[in-house]
Amino acid sequence: MGIRLGLICGDQLHWPNPVCDALDPESDRLLMGELSHETRYVWHHAKKIALIFSAMRHFAENARESGWNVDYQRFDPASEIATFSDLVGQACRQHDVDEIVVTWPGEWRVLEEIQGWGSRFGVDVTLLPDSRFVCALEEFEEWAGERRQLRMEFFYRRMRKKTGFLMDGDAPAGGDWNFDRDNRKVWKGEPPPSSPMSFTPDAITESVIETVDRHIDAFGELEGFDYPVTIEQARRALAHFIRSAAAHFGDYQDAMHTESDWLFHSRLSSSLNIGLLTPTEVCEAVERAWRDGDMPLNAAEGFIRQVIGWREFVRGIYWREMPGYAKRNGLGNERDLPAFYWSGDTGMNCLRETIDATRRNAYAHHIQRLMVTGNFALLLGVEPEQVCDWYLAVYADAFDWVELPNTLGMVMHADGGMLGSKPYAASGKYIDRMSNYCAGCRYEVKETTGEDACPFNALYWDFLMRHRERFEPNPRMKMMYRHVDRMSDERRRDVAQRASEVKRRIESL
Ligand SMILES: Cc1cc2nc3c(=O)[nH]c(=O)nc-3n(C[C@H](O)[C@H](O)[C@H](O)COP(=O)(O)OP(=O)(O)OC[C@H]3O[C@@H](n4cnc5c(N)ncnc54)[C@H](O)[C@@H]3O)c2cc1C
Ligand code: SF4
Repeated sequence: MGIRLGLICGDQLHWPNPVCDALDPESDRLLMGELSHETRYVWHHAKKIALIFSAMRHFAENARESGWNVDYQRFDPASEIATFSDLVGQACRQHDVDEIVVTWPGEWRVLEEIQGWGSRFGVDVTLLPDSRFVCALEEFEEWAGERRQLRMEFFYRRMRKKTGFLMDGDAPAGGDWNFDRDNRKVWKGEPPPSSPMSFTPDAITESVIETVDRHIDAFGELEGFDYPVTIEQARRALAHFIRSAAAHFGDYQDAMHTESDWLFHSRLSSSLNIGLLTPTEVCEAVERAWRDGDMPLNAAEGFIRQVIGWREFVRGIYWREMPGYAKRNGLGNERDLPAFYWSGDTGMNCLRETIDATRRNAYAHHIQRLMVTGNFALLLGVEPEQVCDWYLAVYADAFDWVELPNTLGMVMHADGGMLGSKPYAASGKYIDRMSNYCAGCRYEVKETTGEDACPFNALYWDFLMRHRERFEPNPRMKMMYRHVDRMSDERRRDVAQRASEVKRRIESL
């Protein structure tokens, strides 16, 4: 009789782990690999690769200490074992394998690979559900199937009732499901901003950093790597967030500032997405902080909504709509992503600041992703696939199931409005209100036309005019079209002219 082989992917590093629960350490083996194809299918950030490889090596070490036989392939640029299929194929040749056991992956392309292994390697393949999520995919399907329109807010309420987070009996704590209206304060230097807990690399992480540095062509800066790479570290990072930032998370959730890359955000997404934390333990910690009086309700509710609302919702949409979802281009965009998205080399201060933080940290917070880099790509009309590839590459927390709906749906409105009933399009005025970027910019945020005018402004009006037919009937956009109608013909012409000039000169702005 042969063995069972449990494949653990780099974003499935949680204990207890469904694959380990299904296997027997006495007779079965675990399989893990640092695969060159996985490092290069997009131009990933160096810190993202270092995070995943280091967390994998720590997981493997832990598994061995717990009695597992782990076949672990370290990164080797010359190795012919470059993909999951290569890795599994090699293991099948080395061992007498009857069955491969693997948890449902985070990316459609990996699922497709897995589905071919039965016939390719002559083994049984068992796909286990990913137990880390609050909402199983079947439950999402059941909820979505009953509806004409999928709205996160209704899904979120169902998750609140299901989990009991912030519930007083059957009613939402504080009498309301959503306190977003309190979460739009501008940060003006007080209270002092927080930073995520920083972890000095241990010997394992140091050796990964050396490998990435020497052998992998990656985006961004590797220096200063300080991400949590074990479950124990991720739990300390969570406790640190609760202690040092959570109280102000809600108030300044939408704020941006040149003085702080983080303000009061948690930087827990990468730990959540690779399995070092579970959404339930994170929300339990937040609820506890609120009940202990250490976190106001607007902050606790805002945070929990992101985790059991948005995070679970986008996952449901991804698996419901793939594979066709990735190709949607509802607004018919065709332009290329400007080169400065990679270099940060632009005079537009908001973009420069956000891309610079991205290059340094493999991180930008939600409003920077949505209203700066995302908004600009939307207004410019960049082809969604190129925008998605960029987001998938540059952030440490980026995996297809979560990145794609956020980018293609929420930012690019390319899915016809599943992720938002109206596009998140805004002029420079929004960025000026929520940040101090415009004060240090060579462009004038109050101007729409002319050489020095903020490029967002003309692009914004041009976007509305170009997509009038589609968006005008939307009641939430009526007011914007009233503004367009109040413009004289001459003004509209000037705006369109400035927009086309911005597009023509995009790389030199
Ligand atoms: C264009 C775009 C692309 C994005 N790509 C990703 C991605 O690849 N991976 C990713 O995890 N998040 C993504 N997000 C969502 C969000 O920006 C990040 O989760 C967040 O910035 C991570 O930082 P944080 O941990 O400090 O989050 P916090 O602001 O502290 O929020 C707490 C947690 O809520 C969850 N969360 C918040 N918003 C979302 C959301 N919209 N979707 C899913 N989870 C959310 C995250 O797990 C996060 O850790 C994207 C958003 C946009 C607009
Ligand atoms: S003026 Fe325009 S380009 Fe400059 S920082 Fe403000 S919004 Fe960005």
